[in-house]
Order: sequence, then C-alpha cells, then structure tokens
Amino acid sequence: MAVAAARAIEGLGTTEDAWLGWLDTQAITPVGATSLVPEGRRVVIVAPHPDDEVLAVGGLLAQLAPLSREMLIVAVTDGTASHPASTVWPAQRLAQERPLESRRAWERLGLDVDGSAHAVRLGFADGGLRASCGLLARTLSALLRPTDVVFTTWRHDGHPDHEATGQACAAAAACCGARLIEVPVWAWHWAEPGDARLPWHRAMRLALDPAIRQMKRTSVEAFASQLVADPSTGAGPILRSTTVQRAHRPFEIYFS
Ligand SMILES: [Zn+2]
Repeated sequence: MAVAAARAIEGLGTTEDAWLGWLDTQAITPVGATSLVPEGRRVVIVAPHPDDEVLAVGGLLAQLAPLSREMLIVAVTDGTASHPASTVWPAQRLAQERPLESRRAWERLGLDVDGSAHAVRLGFADGGLRASCGLLARTLSALLRPTDVVFTTWRHDGHPDHEATGQACAAAAACCGARLIEVPVWAWHWAEPGDARLPWHRAMRLALDPAIRQMKRTSVEAFASQLVADPSTGAGPILRSTTVQRAHRPFEIYFS
C-alpha cells in the first residue's frame, strides 16, 4: 500500500524548520478567533484522543476563553492504546490519567472547565474508530446544534482514528447543518512542504501572540504520559520532539 506507507507516522517526521520556512512564503488566508466562532455560537472540539484538542486548536481555545464562548470538548476515546504491552502505562492507568491530563491542559489554556466549557467522554475504543464510524456519526449528531462551529482532525490525517473521527464529524455536521473545520495533526509529520495531498487552497491561518503561545506550550506539557520514553517497552515518547515543536508555532492552520 504505497499511499499508506507514504503517510506512515514513523520516526521524527518533517522538521518544524522545514515547515516554517515554507509556510511563511505562502499566502494562507488569515482568520481571527471571533470570525471563526462569532458571538452566540458554540465551539465544539471533537478529539479522537486526549491531547488532539490542544495540538489542533489549543491556541484558538485560549483566545476564546476570555470571551466566555460556550465550548463543548468531546473525547471520542480515552486514549488507552497509546502504550501497547507497557507495564508502566497499562490501559487502565491510561484510562484514568489521560482524561485528567486533558483537564489540566484546558485549565492552562484558561478554559472555565465545568463553566462555559463542558466536556464529554464517549468511551469509544482507542484504535478502533474505523469500525465504529457510523455509530460515532450518529452519536455526534445527537450532540450537535445547527449553529455550532465544529473542529476536528482532518479526514485524511494519516492516523486511522483521526480519519474516522473526521469522517464521522463531516457526516454529523452535514446532518444538522453545523459548520465543520478540519485540522491537520499527524499530517505535519508525514507530509512535506508544498505536499499536493493537502488541501492548501482551503487553508486558514490563525495567528497566536506570545502570551497565547506560552499558554499552549504549558498546556501541551500537561500530557505527561505522552512525553516520556517507556522503559518497559523501550518505546520513545508518543509525542515526538517535532510534534512538541509544532505546538510552539506562532499560528494554527485549519482547513475550511
Ligand atoms: Zn490522536
């Protein structure tokens, strides 16, 4: 499968220096947080795994927080498959820790958790979303309102759970008339600058000022389980150094 191999999530992936050098030469449509999510609209983030919401739109959430926008953060899975065969991070420990890590991360973004920001955990099986895409779409349809602005992982992101979540969100948003915006997360890893497989013509760029970048940076540090090597399996950190560097960008890129 040449296509699958070409989108493999292995090694360190494309460096941030390469991306920044190229992205800075591109005329990507600038957007503001309040034009993306106007007053009176709810922002809904659908994250396949705990951490995707911050990696994808942490800067946007930090900008919306002081505006008291209503937020719904949907954790599709609890991310229990991040450390296969690990004795340090067995699934039951991850099921407890990863939702707590997300909560700490949201607080570092300034979200009013259990106030204007609500969270829901759907409890789907980590790694198995492709098989339950239809059920996920129906479940999301019941949560969405026609006036919502929904952000999720890009449906061609290269990770099966991210793609299934993107597809399910597309179906659910179309069903109820909500606006859908897709965000590349793992695509930055396997794609290359100028890569024709990414829909650059639909790209939007949200600028992040230094204070917001710092909030996003400390927010990502809350995902402790994903940031350290696992001595019981010899595996390196799930979030590679390149992934963490991307979270320090002075902008976020979305596909409309
Ligand atoms: Zn993920």
